[in-house]
Amino acid sequence: MTVARGTFAYEFSEGSEQALASKEILGGKGAGLAAMSSLGLPVPPGFTITTEACRDYMAAGGLSGEIVEQVERQLGKLEESAGKRLGDSEDPLLVSVRSGATVSMPGMMDTVLNLGLGDAAVEGFAASTGDERFAYDSYRRFIQMFGDVVLKVEHEKFEAELESLKIEAGAEDDTDLSAEDLKGLIERYKRVVEDETGSSFSQDPREQLELSIQAVFDSWNTPRAISYRKEFDLPDDSGTAVTVQAMVFGNMGDSSATGVVFTRDPSTGDQGLWGEFLLNAQGEDVVAGIRTPKPIAEMEAFLPRAFGELLETMRRLENEYRDMQDIEFTVERDKLYMLQTRSGKRTAAAALKIAREMAEEDIISREEAVTRIDPSQLDQVLHPYIDPEAELEILAEGLPASPGAATGKVVFSADEAEERGGAGESVILVRKETTPDDVHGMVRAKGTLTALGGMTSHAAVVARGLGIPAVTGCKALKIDSSAGGFSIDGKTFTGEDTITIEGSTGRVVEGAAPLVEPEMSGDLERLLAWADETRDLGVRANADTPEDANRARSLGAEGIGLCRTEHMFMQEGRLEIVRDMILSDTDEATTDALSRLEPLQRGDFEGILEEMDGLPVTIRLLDPPLHEFLPDSVDLYERLAELGDEESSEATEIRRQLRVVESLEEANPMLGLRGCRLGIVRPGLYRMQARAIAEAAKNAREKGLNPIAEIMVPLVGFRTELAGIRTEIEAVVGEVLGPESPVRIGTMIELPRACVVAHEIAQEADFFSFGTNDLTQTTCGLSRDDAESAFLASYLEGGILEKNPFQTVDQDGVGELVAMACKRGRESRPDIKLGVCGEHGGDPESIRFFHETGLDYVSCSPYRVPVARLAAAQAAVNGEREALGVTR
Ligand code: ADP
Ligand code: MG
Ligand code: MG
Repeated sequence: MTVARGTFAYEFSEGSEQALASKEILGGKGAGLAAMSSLGLPVPPGFTITTEACRDYMAAGGLSGEIVEQVERQLGKLEESAGKRLGDSEDPLLVSVRSGATVSMPGMMDTVLNLGLGDAAVEGFAASTGDERFAYDSYRRFIQMFGDVVLKVEHEKFEAELESLKIEAGAEDDTDLSAEDLKGLIERYKRVVEDETGSSFSQDPREQLELSIQAVFDSWNTPRAISYRKEFDLPDDSGTAVTVQAMVFGNMGDSSATGVVFTRDPSTGDQGLWGEFLLNAQGEDVVAGIRTPKPIAEMEAFLPRAFGELLETMRRLENEYRDMQDIEFTVERDKLYMLQTRSGKRTAAAALKIAREMAEEDIISREEAVTRIDPSQLDQVLHPYIDPEAELEILAEGLPASPGAATGKVVFSADEAEERGGAGESVILVRKETTPDDVHGMVRAKGTLTALGGMTSHAAVVARGLGIPAVTGCKALKIDSSAGGFSIDGKTFTGEDTITIEGSTGRVVEGAAPLVEPEMSGDLERLLAWADETRDLGVRANADTPEDANRARSLGAEGIGLCRTEHMFMQEGRLEIVRDMILSDTDEATTDALSRLEPLQRGDFEGILEEMDGLPVTIRLLDPPLHEFLPDSVDLYERLAELGDEESSEATEIRRQLRVVESLEEANPMLGLRGCRLGIVRPGLYRMQARAIAEAAKNAREKGLNPIAEIMVPLVGFRTELAGIRTEIEAVVGEVLGPESPVRIGTMIELPRACVVAHEIAQEADFFSFGTNDLTQTTCGLSRDDAESAFLASYLEGGILEKNPFQTVDQDGVGELVAMACKRGRESRPDIKLGVCGEHGGDPESIRFFHETGLDYVSCSPYRVPVARLAAAQAAVNGEREALGVTR
């Protein structure tokens, strides 16, 4: 197809064989019809008015003379090839008017069928088809659809007339109505139109057509369509195409039918026949659910010839598109017509199976197969989900904020969630919304449910980070904390009640729904293996415990990119020692506390190094401000007050602690005494950690393993910071492991200054790992917790920001700094290893950027590892395609 600007309508037969390229102009439906036409398949003739015409219409606020003229010209050609004329009183042409955007989009105009009928044409139609009843039934269907869809008359108004006529005529079904009954119904319908719109039903087919075209264009901007585009990140300015097509009739008796088929099963991906059909019915009837369709296999018995042709056509279309197709057809008096083909929507499981089988059948390449899976859809198969076979009492639906399903007793405060969850009970935290103050409870809950908040609300973001399910924005939920419960639709739930939430779909279910544990299916493993062959970027995981490390490894992680030591400090029984260490005021006391901590740390590291035998493990030295480990000063004051005036050794001790606690309080802890600054102010701490790491490695080695520990220093901004710490660590490691087996020492890059002076810092670092969360905070001057709990949502809604920069890396700002640091770091130390740790490392769009920037690996939460492997492979394939100038 040669595409010319200002050509507003194309005949199907002008359509391209490269349907993909023409989709943007003709919409998915128009492109599919054009492609089927050019394959010589039986498509009723027609033409498509382009998306460019829609944009022109929206800009001008009406149909330009040029568009009207081109439509008229195409209609003339259509009349010629059909051998019939629109509105003709002897043998009229009838058409359908169909909407179709580039990406298939519910929420736009419904199809108008049988357009072109009027009082005169219907008589000709009755004569030419030899079936008066059929003709009048078509006319009344047309008035009803046109009235509903184009004139916006309520559907019920027509239904009411139909119902009362059926009662008067003593008819049980629509089909019991005679031609005479239908003539009467048409008069009633016309009156409804007149009453509701103030003008009579148009008898001018040209006008009917023009109004329909405008209605399709207008439907681009209905609230439903707009919110759909927002939800799925689709552009608002592309517009929709309109297809005008000669009608064929599946409702001309028992040698006619209409149906929908998929070339493979869209829920399992299995090969074989999948679909439904209805004898003697018109398109919409299958979907409308008035009659129950039959399984497609039964069509063979009724319409053997058309059935055989359909099978052959399905095979051809799948081969042509090299993908599973979703096909609409109609049989008119034994003759098959194709009305639509498009790539079928499918579940994640089906997508995996289809991609695998198509590659194994050599229909597509392995690289292509890898690009066929939507990484975000993988979440569906990597988390527990509600057994699809189960009978459910669905209470409400909210937003699918964080994937996975969970069952538990409902709790209404974070403290209660922490307490009951910590004691091993399964609980679901139910809140109006969450704030940073609720995180300690979310961590212990199996899932979180909130009444307010969207997909980027605090609850959603935190839950995704933690890998626990969440449903947010569940509007039906009414929380009444005074009554200690919540209600949905008047039904009340308290702390003794159990619910199930499914964060992949947003469903909230009463009671304990049966859950299915995910497993790596053979299809998934195969595709991920192909992804591994394709990608350049390494994938590691963030893991702080041997269990996490084990899970990460089984999901394909090639090492640990971030092992945080602070979680180990927080554990039961250890916090006391950590506090002793911080609160100590003599060197001896500090040394004593550190020597009690060291064996515990060594044990942690040993466990992780064993799990990751042979793979690198990057251990970050202590990062957060010390006061996070200390008692709250308010609590200490309270205890002091309880003791009264009486002087005791306890009171003295509390006062001493208070002095330290208050001396460590900071106005701005995020930018205060934390990260490598701790290591400099309290050198014993990092020395202890380095010794524990080195000894853990030594022990693992003595067991015959191959531990690869890497030590990472956080929050470095100046070369001199790292230089001093490096010297100390090297000395300790050398003492334990000997000079022959050095441990790699590197740094987190999470300050803009570090990026700028990366060439200097690289002199002291064997690797950089970009801490993109802190780097985003420090570059944008945004505190994540404050932004996400307050103003970020309005930034996103108002379009000030397109994406949450904590989920998808801000390429123009933070990304530039990352690129600069990579370049400067490599210039000064060519063999430096470059990685990313943090949530961005599991985000497909960010992964693509990191691939393009030339990083060596990304590191993300264990559950995201498969997603990252796939996204990294897709980035590699797309990069290659772009280099070859292939666009899609
Ligand atoms: P949707 O986008 O909702 O699938 P379609 O434009 O495909 O809408 O049309 C809805 C129904 O009308 C389908 O079942 C289709 O087969 C039927 N239909 C559309 N155009 C024609 C036609 N020219 N002849 C017969 N049936 C048609
Ligand atoms: Mg359709
Ligand atoms: Mg950090």
